[in-house]
Amino acid sequence: MQKLIITVAPTGSVPKKKNTPHVPITPEEIIETGIRCEAAGASIIHVHVRNLADESPSTDYGLFESVTNGLKSETNLIIQISTGGRAGMAYKDRRERLKLKPEMASLTTGSVNFPNQVYANSPELIRNLARDMQANGIKPEIEIFDVSMINNALTLVEEGLVTPPLHFDFVMGLKGAIPATIENLVHLAQSIPADSTWSIAGIGAAQLPMNTHAILMGGHSRVGLEDCIYYRRGELANNERLVKRIVNLSRELGREIASPDEAREILKLS
Ligand code: ZN
Repeated sequence: MQKLIITVAPTGSVPKKKNTPHVPITPEEIIETGIRCEAAGASIIHVHVRNLADESPSTDYGLFESVTNGLKSETNLIIQISTGGRAGMAYKDRRERLKLKPEMASLTTGSVNFPNQVYANSPELIRNLARDMQANGIKPEIEIFDVSMINNALTLVEEGLVTPPLHFDFVMGLKGAIPATIENLVHLAQSIPADSTWSIAGIGAAQLPMNTHAILMGGHSRVGLEDCIYYRRGELANNERLVKRIVNLSRELGREIASPDEAREILKLS
């Protein structure tokens, strides 16, 4: 089995300091978290940024630039910038950060109902973002919230906008998205092209069990406060501890952890 690639998603768009003091908000905090999580065993960092005044999700290019530059100089992590829409749904707000040419960026290939908001990704917007990623040499992390989004991704391949081998991230257990069950996971893993790689973002209490399935099935893991702020019921987590837990579990189960450079090889990053 391939070595396990661990992605850390330390910040996301939702948790604030009042929810957990461990969520990194400022560029300095995000960079420091990246350094600690790399030492713990992560090889990819999934980046969101926040407005400093009120911790709300931000589209600010300067913030993305500070985080990217800091992570590049302080770590060997693969930087994966989110193009998610919570900070601003418009294409112009979501594309600018791709000029930073991170090695990866998230690309959600369909729309989904978040609990209080439509996460809108029109066919046109998806194509535009895919084209921008291709132009900047960025590998998409194809974020799937439901089975149909796999087919949408395969259409992008047919249209020449995304080049295989594909990397998918299955977002499971979010209200409005595919439920986090092992049956659903098996179906998703069997529905993608055989040469693809995949990871799981299990939301809330689904994070640990779904990542455990991924370790055993040959997939890859994503952990972090973006997906769940708890280590276990009633006990707040920090990002580094969540990474360490997956490292320990994976080694106990006989699967070694990929370094960032080994992850680059597995993901065929150029
Ligand atoms: Zn994200």
